[in-house]
Amino acid sequence: MDYKDLANLIFPDAKDIKYYEEKYPERNLKEGAIVTRIAPSPTGFIHIGGLYQGLIAKKLAKQTEGVFFIRIEDTDQKRLVENGVMEIVESLNNFGFEPDEGMVTETESKGEYGPYRQSLRKDIYQSYAKYLIEQGKAYPCFCSTEEIEEIRQKQEAAKIRPGYYGVWAKCRNLTVEEMIERIKNGENYIVRFKSPGREDRKIKHHDLIKGNVDFPENDQDIVIIKADGLPTYHFAHAVDDHLMRTTHVIRGDEWLSSMPVHLQLFHELGFKAPKYAHIAPIMKNDNGNKRKLSKRKDPEAAVSYYVEMGIPKEAVSEYLLNIANSNFENWRRANKDTSIDDFELQINKMSVSGALFDMVKLLDVGKTVISKYTAEEVYNKSKDWAKTFDEELYSILDKDKEYALKVFGIERGNKKPRKDIAKWSDVKENIEYMYDELFEKNKQDYEYQVISDKKEIEKILDLYINKYYDENDDKQTWFDKIKELSGEMGFAKEVKEFKENPGKYKAHVGDVSTVLRVALTKRTNTPDMYEIMKILGKDRIQKRFEQAKNN
Ligand code: GLU
Repeated sequence: MDYKDLANLIFPDAKDIKYYEEKYPERNLKEGAIVTRIAPSPTGFIHIGGLYQGLIAKKLAKQTEGVFFIRIEDTDQKRLVENGVMEIVESLNNFGFEPDEGMVTETESKGEYGPYRQSLRKDIYQSYAKYLIEQGKAYPCFCSTEEIEEIRQKQEAAKIRPGYYGVWAKCRNLTVEEMIERIKNGENYIVRFKSPGREDRKIKHHDLIKGNVDFPENDQDIVIIKADGLPTYHFAHAVDDHLMRTTHVIRGDEWLSSMPVHLQLFHELGFKAPKYAHIAPIMKNDNGNKRKLSKRKDPEAAVSYYVEMGIPKEAVSEYLLNIANSNFENWRRANKDTSIDDFELQINKMSVSGALFDMVKLLDVGKTVISKYTAEEVYNKSKDWAKTFDEELYSILDKDKEYALKVFGIERGNKKPRKDIAKWSDVKENIEYMYDELFEKNKQDYEYQVISDKKEIEKILDLYINKYYDENDDKQTWFDKIKELSGEMGFAKEVKEFKENPGKYKAHVGDVSTVLRVALTKRTNTPDMYEIMKILGKDRIQKRFEQAKNN
């Protein structure tokens, strides 16, 4: 009896690997094309780090005319949640990182290199495990959980490396006959890889991000097929990325220490190993301490947070590129209006130790991104967001599109567009004063600033509406009239004049404008007041002034 008999006993129906090697041939792509993937587990939580990986993988594939695919790693059946695949697929699509191949819904996929869900690839893994057993490179292990625990305790007591290796690997030295007999007796087993490695030897690895690293060789007989017949991550990674013809594995750097196992598996399986790029996690500054963005502590670790806040997806991708390559910022400065698709991402320029995530900066990018949208885009996108997240805003926008376009059109489309909206959840408070029903609900106290005497304020408002306001005025005339009004009230008509004679005036034209602005909007800061007045019209201006006087 030999290894072949053993292999046939364990996997009687497994196909010869030749079948799969032919079924999934080398991809016919131009030289230098990168084939890469994202390989998430559908656990129902999508970390911003996952999206970051998606962005990098998608961009590299696109830049090189390669392929970006999504493979679902669902071999840990305990961690699965319903609709987990769909959530990931939708998230990637939503942010513009649609894969070229792989799962497109919970159950459907596109592409010739599938199935793209590991739980559907059981037969494939078994063929390759059989192939290893046939060559004596893998074997059944009958150790129970208790026996493994006993080994661990002994190792701990003797203060030696834990694991299933060397003399501790009890089942590796069973004879084929013994193995066959125990299987025939109905004993439970799993399949382990028979590692040819030695701990006192080193392997060298060149990582595209981390650079040259070396490790002791792997000598652990790791599990490759579990009791449920499904593979472990390590084995599935080698088989899948080989058969899917991945050229670049881009993944989290928590996997860097598994390189010795992975390179060994590729070697023993007779595969050419892909290139690896291990991405450092996104970090956060927590009171001066740099730490990983945490699913438990930081709401912004979840992709759903960005959706709920209504941070435009363009802003998120742009910001992620920003932290991926530090030269992005300079590129953006030189190419203000270019699409980020034109930026050439360089994997070797990624941070080795982890880029810092800065919410303030992301929101700043959001402001710039939104400032470049047309009024129509702002209308559509904020309404879309509001549909799910803010009923009141949705109904207001939906009621009168034409009016909303005027509101969103204030200071937009010009050289220095308004930059007061960073995310769709900011919209309501930024347009509130243009909608009476929202405005009247705002019971906040407001300050008039320099001119604060009630009588004076009343006089300004009355004079303005009765004597100076004319809805047909152009902007210059409109402003000249506020100057005239200032003069009539004994305030400086020019700021300059005020500064030159500080003792002479109580206030200046800017302070008078502020009175008008606060009475109109309950704010000291708004986009162009001329445009605001134009949209409100005389009756509403008058009404607001009356309300202000009675306040
Ligand atoms: N399922 C693994 C993870 O989510 C994939 C790692 C990889 O990209 O190979 O960490």
